[in-house]
Amino acid sequence: MSFPLTVIKEQSLKNRTNRQCGTCTACCTIIGVKELNKERWTKCVHEAGCCQIYEDRPLPCRTFECMWLSGHIEGDERRRPDTLGIIFVPSDNDKLPIIACWECFPGAADKNVHLLKQLATKAILYILPFGEPQKWKVLGPACYRETIQNMLVKAAQLH
Ligand code: SF4
Ligand code: SF4
Repeated sequence: MSFPLTVIKEQSLKNRTNRQCGTCTACCTIIGVKELNKERWTKCVHEAGCCQIYEDRPLPCRTFECMWLSGHIEGDERRRPDTLGIIFVPSDNDKLPIIACWECFPGAADKNVHLLKQLATKAILYILPFGEPQKWKVLGPACYRETIQNMLVKAAQLH
């Protein structure tokens, strides 16, 4: 995946091979999986501590990788989504450094204001409150002020 994310540090990518999902199953609740008729923020019926249909899980489950797992977010297991409370997912937009920040529980973004502000100096963050994506917030660096402003106008129109 091409992603011009300057927040990425070489050192964090070296940690890539050490990272494992372990006991985290946060994305099994957060992401939507069309093949399973699974809505976002709904626990998958196949999740029971781990995936019960691991060998037969659909493609979106096989290919999903959050930015902590891929090594693009620095930090140890305390930054793993099940502990941190936020799943960071890079946008498909390869022109802008956009990160979707999905809350895994209500208030997780408020608990991680410092980290989000740090990331927002380098990338545009879409913060998606738990179960209420229509209340999204956008943070980002001054150089993207116009883009962010347009996003906020669009968001306001959707509310
Ligand atoms: S949220 Fe990330 S670390 Fe957690 S299970 Fe999904 S891919 Fe693995
Ligand atoms: S099928 Fe397995 S990997 Fe996919 S969401 Fe359900 S529990 Fe998670």
